Formats: sequence, structure tokens, C-alpha cells
Amino acid sequence: AKKLTIGLIPADGIGREVIPAAQQVLEALPTELDKPRFNFIHLDAGFEYFQKHGTALPEKTLEILKNECDGALFGAVSSPSHKVAGYSSPIVALRKHLDLYANVRPVKSVISDKDINQKPIDILIIRENTECLATGLKIAWADRKISEYASKRCGKMAFEMALGRNGIRQNIPMNQRIWKSKPKVTIVHKSNVLSITDGLWRESVRSVKENNHKYDEVDMEEQLVDSMPQAFDVVVAPNLYGDIISDGAAALVGSLGVVPSANVGDTFVVGEPVHGSAPDIAGQNKANPIAAIRSAGLLLEHIGYHKQALSIYNAVDNVMREGNVLTPDLGGSSTTQQVTQAILKSL
Ligand code: NAD
Ligand code: MN
Repeated sequence: AKKLTIGLIPADGIGREVIPAAQQVLEALPTELDKPRFNFIHLDAGFEYFQKHGTALPEKTLEILKNECDGALFGAVSSPSHKVAGYSSPIVALRKHLDLYANVRPVKSVISDKDINQKPIDILIIRENTECLATGLKIAWADRKISEYASKRCGKMAFEMALGRNGIRQNIPMNQRIWKSKPKVTIVHKSNVLSITDGLWRESVRSVKENNHKYDEVDMEEQLVDSMPQAFDVVVAPNLYGDIISDGAAALVGSLGVVPSANVGDTFVVGEPVHGSAPDIAGQNKANPIAAIRSAGLLLEHIGYHKQALSIYNAVDNVMREGNVLTPDLGGSSTTQQVTQAILKSL
């Protein structure tokens, strides 16, 4: 089996509880799936690290990621809401240094056996990851950058994922699918108000489909960010809108604790739960590990290990569907470890 070297960057708060859970799941993948041999490297980063050492992303972490790792899993950082001299977010720096230009966020509900009448949600949000808002320090003014280059490559990622996702969906029972035929990409913008920036975003993403017959198989539609309809397949959005939409969508599926993401570039992938460091529950063994575990699945999916990714997704879905072993954010009373064990058993 191929050796995969994965950098583990738990960083702050519940990142230190959920990343080890994800590591356990990767290690426990069944061998009959041609499981890769994992080599994990533990790496430092985060606000706590900054407070001790004066940097939130040590040079060594970046060097090891670039030179030794096939991919990485990041936990969460506790970014202070006030300006701290010398501090900048390590995950933002990683996205930049590794050119992880798209943040891929599947938001999927699993209807528990107890509640089969609920409407299923299964959206893939592609968030542009390199530009958008940059704030000035002394005045309440923000510059917004939208370029044709960044918009197009993010748009291409969305159309590619729309094609690929249908394949993965073959394994989802028909009655649980939202899209039974052609995949669809929805371009989110607000070009009725922000015609210069959002207009460029919209035109750039549109041109990706219009200039490539490969994407004839994918429908395209547009949506203003503040009037999102019910039915989505793949949604592609500028950085800021993508963040807000996906945190909102997380509420629809029950909890931020179940929504994963992958920061994807052309040469590297960093899996990362959408949630933050959750200081209110850190250290209490209450954190939902599902977002981190699904992020490990996304990491494998984007490195090319589709079977392994699918077995992680299915194990998580089984545990959620049964609904007996859940952390408090989903209404249960189980611990991080108990949920992890249930997922391991289901693998
Ligand atoms: P948060 O995601 O940390 O927490 C929001 C709420 O959701 C909290 O009530 C928390 O308990 C709950 N929650 C989050 N993840 C959970 C999980 N896995 N299981 C159970 N409950 C969970 O967001 P916040 O409170 O706005 O921010 C806290 C810190 O995290 C801040 O310092 C913020 O800057 C940082 N943050 C980091 C990232 C990141 O690393 N990418 C993202 C968002 C926020
Ligand atoms: Mn967010």
C-alpha cells in the first residue's frame, strides 16, 4: 500500500480533541480497502502557540507541510476579536502559502430513523479562499478584491466537483437524494448592488461553463446571496458570502459540529472542520468529532482515495441515522470519545 504522510495541526481549543478523533478513524480504515499506510506528523500552530513563542505558524510547520506531507488536517484557531500586535491567523496564512484557493464545504443532513419526515439537505458549497475583504486598521473601511483569475479557478473547481459528486452519490439511496438527474452549480452574488465586484465574479464563473463543453452536463443558475432558495446542488460563492452561507446552512443540518471542509489547491489539501475552537466547551470531552472526521474523509477524497472517503462518510451517516450515540450539540449526551468509538465500530 502507498504511504501517505499527513500533517496534523490541532492548534487551539477543541481542535485538540477532534483532530485525534479523526486520526483514530484514519488509522482504523479497513485493510480490504487498499488502505494507504499512514504516517502522521504532529505540527504546531495556533493562538496559544503564538502566546508562548511569538508566532502562530512556525516556519518549521510550513517547511514540513511543503516538503514531507501529502496533505494535512487542521483543527481550529482561537483568533482574538481584537487586534493583537504581531498575530495573524495561521489558517489564513496556510491557505496563502500553499495556494489553497477553494474551500470545499459539503453540508449534508442525515435524517435520523426517528424523524423520517424531515426534508434532506445535501449542498456542496465552494467558497473562494484567497481574496474578498481586507480591512484597514484605523478607519471603518474595507477594501474588497475580486479578480477574474481567482473567480475563474474557483468556478472551475465548482464545475469539476459538480461532475465528480454525482459519482459519489451513486451510493446514496435514491429516496435520500435531492438531485436525481443533472448536477447544478448555483453562482451566488449580489451584483444588483455590488455590480463592479460581484458582476466580475458572476461573469468570470459563468465563462468557465460557457467556454468548456465538458460542463454541458452541468446546469448553471444564479442566486442573490440574500434570497437563497430551497434546492441546491453545488453553490459557488466569493469568500465572505461562502463563509456566511455555510455557517447558516450548518444550522439547518443541526450543528456546526458536523460540517467539514477541505482547503483545496492544485498541489495540496488541508482538511478543516468549519467550526472554531469552541472555548465554551473546550476540554470537557463534549466536542462533536464528526466535522473533523468528515474533514479527514474529504482530505482522502481530494488526494484520490474515494473508496476510503466513502467508507468514512457512510460510517458517520450510520451513527447519525441511528441517533443513539450523539454529543450534546445534537441533543445527545455522549462524549467525543464515545461518538468516535461508535464511528470506528461502524467502519
Ligand atoms: P465556534 O465554532 O468555535 O463555536 C460556535 C458555537 O458552536 C459554540 O457554542 C460551540 O460550542 C459550538 N460548537 C462548535 N464546534 C462544535 C463541535 N465540534 N461540537 C459541539 N459544539 C460545537 O465559533 P465562535 O464561538 O464564534 O468562535 C470561537 C473561536 O474560534 C474564536 O476565537 C474564533 O476566532 C475561532 N474560529 C476559528 C475558526 C477556524 O479555525 N477556522 C472558525 C471560526 C471561528
Ligand atoms: Mn465561519
